[in-house]
This record gives sequence, structure tokens and C-alpha cells, in this order.
Amino acid sequence: MRRHRNIKIVATLGPASSDYDTIRALFEAGADVFRLNMSHGTHDDHRARYDVIRKIEADTGRPIAILADLQGPKLRVGTFKDESAELTDGQAFRFDLDETPGDSTRAQLPHPEIFAALEVGSGLLVNDGKIRLRVEECGPDFANCTVTVGGTISNRKGVNVPDVVLPLAALSEKDRDDLEFACQLGVDWLALSFVQRPEDMLEARELAKDRAAVLAKIEKPAAVRAFQQILAVSDGIMVARGDLGVELPVESVPPIQKRLVRGCRAAAKPVIVATQMLESMIESPMPTRAEVSDVANAIYEGADAVMLSAESAAGQYPIEAVTTMDHVARSVESDPTYREVIEASRKADRTTVADGIVAAAREIAETTDIQAICAHTQSGTTVSLVARERPRTPIIAMSPIPRVLRRLCLTWGTHCVATQPLERFRQAVIVAAKAAREFRFAAENQQIVVTAGVPFNTAGTTNILRVAPCDESLIFRSETE
Ligand code: ATP
Ligand code: MG
Ligand code: MG
Repeated sequence: MRRHRNIKIVATLGPASSDYDTIRALFEAGADVFRLNMSHGTHDDHRARYDVIRKIEADTGRPIAILADLQGPKLRVGTFKDESAELTDGQAFRFDLDETPGDSTRAQLPHPEIFAALEVGSGLLVNDGKIRLRVEECGPDFANCTVTVGGTISNRKGVNVPDVVLPLAALSEKDRDDLEFACQLGVDWLALSFVQRPEDMLEARELAKDRAAVLAKIEKPAAVRAFQQILAVSDGIMVARGDLGVELPVESVPPIQKRLVRGCRAAAKPVIVATQMLESMIESPMPTRAEVSDVANAIYEGADAVMLSAESAAGQYPIEAVTTMDHVARSVESDPTYREVIEASRKADRTTVADGIVAAAREIAETTDIQAICAHTQSGTTVSLVARERPRTPIIAMSPIPRVLRRLCLTWGTHCVATQPLERFRQAVIVAAKAAREFRFAAENQQIVVTAGVPFNTAGTTNILRVAPCDESLIFRSETE
């Protein structure tokens, strides 16, 4: 099984996507990475979904990445008697500390620090800014508000207080607990919400102890300002547009998205564009034209991945949403303008032997008739560098280490293949040719490029590049001649 596109698809799992058949259908429709959002559901729910994904991995023989998203210091409302309530413009609504499930007149807001910081006239935004309230009266344990923009409020929706600075730690007690749980499960990526400083990432990294790669969600103005420093200590980035568009004017999101995607591409680190990509598909089998354009735009920017949130976690059309993304990607990526845009935006400071080798691999592949660039990797770095080149030729990422391959499922253009531990370069060529044929990237009479580092089993030593035929007898002949 192979994908016919470069951009990867991240699908959040939730109540609408829990059983084997649905998750398998999401995978077959095109999901490359599954996201478990620690803000919702119990550890048992997440463990059950984790086990299903690993079962699908075993059944299909294809690596799949699992990303656990840590809630971070996100402010959320409590729960509601009927799961949700309708708020209308102009009505009164009260937030308090009372755990009793809410209704259309009041709800719990379990954050005394918000009440301490609120003032009359402060704005409160709920559910990525869809519902808006103004504070009319407040005290240490309540806020009486007027609804300025109504809508449906439901269990544990996020709350933003954009004009107020709240003293919040990067990782709450719950986050530390979730992080340890996720690492013990064996997730490949950890995403940290509401990162403000590079130190926040270092703290998560220290707790993860290399059991998972760490990804910073950029959704605070402070994180946008410190982006380069945060990127330097992260393995990947998520442009978390939901909260970003609430914390900052919504029109500043597209330029920030462009800048973040470019920064990540230059640094050879994966970047996910997330939130509201196909929002209308929560309730409709058809996306809007604007949503399709939004997905297309992220693809033209050269992002590594696009993401589905409620569309796949809680929507009525999870599989259709993945299929839509897959179709948009295939259409955009076969547009000649796509290649022009991608090439014009390539930016790489090449300083190492590996940088030179991967650039050469792309040049050779694009000059002659090469079907795939096969990169053997121990740490994943070489493959990230090949992907940074954004070549026209498919990339086959090969490694004997399952967790390395799984992490790379988030990286642009990679088709990940497990190998046995290798000892000689010739073996590496044979294995690559076999994979290229097996996954129908190349036929026997065609050629591939193979890169590797010798000696094997040491990270960071990419030093060989070879153009090889896919026919095993020819590989052998060209060696002995
Ligand atoms: P974040 O800020 O981390 O994106 P979110 O609340 O926006 O948090 P998403 O993962 O973006 O959550 O999903 C959107 C919505 O889908 C959620 O608000 C929730 O209603 C629903 N959802 C997602 N995952 C789950 C889950 N595991 N259990 C229940 N509902 C879920
Ligand atoms: Mg968010
Ligand atoms: Mg969200």
C-alpha cells in the first residue's frame, strides 16, 4: 500500500472514530498519523484506540504515527446537564466554580485564576472564539456575563481571555500525568499546547526522555514572537490556528502560518497546519469551496501535514473528510504550478556532507529517469533532509528501527519501509530496490537513487549515494564489473 501524494494527513480520534473498522477505514482513506487529544476522554479510551492503531499497523504491515496532544494550560468550561446548551445573543450567563453540570443560564469555569484576573468589560471567548461573552460583574468565584455572540456551548469547550495575562505553568499536574501515560503507551509524538517559551519545550523533552518526539503547538502571541528559539528545541511544529485566531486578530493567522511553514521547512522539521480545515464536514458530507482552498493553500506552502480535529473525532463524516483531503492533495500536487511554487520557496542552508548528498540525490533524480530516492536512516535525520529538498521523486525512508519510521510518517513525501539491520552497502541497495518494486515505485528495468551512511548503525553519517538498477541481477553485475 502506498499514498499518491506528498502531504500527510493527521486525523484526530474521538467518539466518532473508536472502533477497528472506522480507524482502519480512516487509514485506508489516507490518514498517516492519528492524534489522541488528552483534553478529552479517559486514559482507558486512549489506550483502547492506541491498541487498535497498533493492530492495524500489524495487519497492514505499514508504520503509523500516533501523536498525543497534551492539553497544556488550556482553560475550559465544565460539563453540561444535557452535554450542551444554547446561548442566544444578549442573554445573561454566569460562570462560577460550582461543579454542578451547567445549563443555558450558568456553567462551571474551574479556574479561580481567571476570576482573579477578570475585570468588568473583559471579553471571554468560547470554542475557538465562536461564542463571545462580556463580563458585567465579577468576584473571586463568579463572573456574570452578557452573551454578545451566541451559539451552542458544550462539555469542556476551550475558553480564551485574550486581553488578560494569566500566570500559568506550561505543564499542569494533569499534563505530566498524561505525558507519562502516553510515553508508556508508546506514542511517537507528543504535542505541547500553549507553549510560550523554549523552556516549556525543554521541560517536556526532559520528561519524555526521548521516548517520543516533541512538537510545539504555536497558539500564543508569545510563541509567535519566540518562534525561532522554540523551533530550535522542538522536533516539529503545529500551527494551531484555533486558539491563535482568538489570541491574535484572525487576519494575522495566514501570514503567521506562511512564516511558520517556511521556518520549519528551512529547519527540516515537520510542520502541521491545523484547525477548522474542513469544519463544515462535521455536519455535511461536502466541504465548502473556501475550506478546499484552505487545504490547498497549506499544500502549496509545502507544509508537511494537514490536520482534522472535530471532523474526524466527533463529526458525522470522518472518512469523507480524510478522502476530501486526499483528493485535494492529489489534485494540487499534480498541478504544474505546485512544482513551481514549491521550488521557488525551497530554502536550505547546506553546510554538511549529508546536506550535499541529499541535494545531489534530488538533482540526479530530477535530471534523469529515477523512480525513487531511497534513504537509509538510523535517526531519521537523512530522510528529513531529503524531504527538505521537496523533490519531485518519491522518497522511500528505510530504517531497521520501528520508532524512527513511525515518527517519519509525519514528514512530507516519505513512504516508510522497515528493513533488517544492514551490514553492507550492497545489501542496502538490494533492500531499496526490492522495496521500490514491492510498493510499485519502480519496475525491474528502472532506476533508483540510494543514500546511506557507512559504517551502518551509526547516526549522522550519510556519506554514500548510488544510482542503482532495480533488477537484482544487474545490481550484482555492476558490483563485480
Ligand atoms: P485543542 O485546543 O487541543 O485542539 P479542542 O477542544 O479544540 O482542543 P480538538 O481535538 O480540536 O479539541 O477536537 C475538536 C472537538 O472534537 C472537541 O472540542 C470535542 O468536542 C471533540 N473531541 C475530540 N476528541 C475527542 C475525544 N477523545 N472525546 C470526546 N470528544 C472529542
Ligand atoms: Mg488548541
Ligand atoms: Mg481544536
